[in-house]
Amino acid sequence: MNIVAIGAHQDDIEIHCLGTLLRYQQQGGHTFTNVTISNGDKGAQFDTSIPYAEIAKTRIGEATKVAEALGGRYICMGQSDEYIRDTDEARNQLVDILREAKADIVFTHPPVDYNTDHITTSQIVFHAVMLSNVKTIFTDHEPLPETPATFYMDSTAGFEWQPSHYVDITPVWEKKVELLNLHESQMQNMLKFGGWDLVKFSRIMGQFRGLQSKVEYAEAFKPVLAWPRVRAGNWLP
Ligand SMILES: [Zn+2]
Repeated sequence: MNIVAIGAHQDDIEIHCLGTLLRYQQQGGHTFTNVTISNGDKGAQFDTSIPYAEIAKTRIGEATKVAEALGGRYICMGQSDEYIRDTDEARNQLVDILREAKADIVFTHPPVDYNTDHITTSQIVFHAVMLSNVKTIFTDHEPLPETPATFYMDSTAGFEWQPSHYVDITPVWEKKVELLNLHESQMQNMLKFGGWDLVKFSRIMGQFRGLQSKVEYAEAFKPVLAWPRVRAGNWLP
């Protein structure tokens, strides 16, 4: 399968979905495309003297390293961090990314979350997955033969969100921690922002979803229950 994960910021896929991507990687035979809509340029609360362009470059580098560890690639759509907008251009930009990747399955934020960047990302993805199959929407790549199966990841800290599907990430937990540590800037930023670094935050979420699903660590999802984004069969690892 061709797997496309789309987050608002450079650490979102990593927190909510990386263990699942690593489980797919263990299966073999899949391709990985990680996308963020923002450039992450507001991510230097740990040192506000860092210019926007510099922190964006750092974070793009960090997300690239994680994607490469999966054997995949990372694409930054370049919107301003904390000001993501659902525009015609953003929809078509993402439609073309999905077509070029020949996406079979897509992961993104749920429609409720703590940050409007996440909510807007969810909305852009919701629409773009459907448009990726529409033959009268013209981009650089051919329309997909089928709408990709689409899943929502967990909300930040699980607020207002009840997932229905759980992936056991216990076998890849240590690898997830190793790759989270590649986000050096956000390990510092999260500490300053919320008092938790990426590893601690992911550990609490992973154990909580693991408690619900009777494993040590889990990531949780819900299929996007809207036609034609639901596909028969078990798509999760
Ligand atoms: Zn985020």
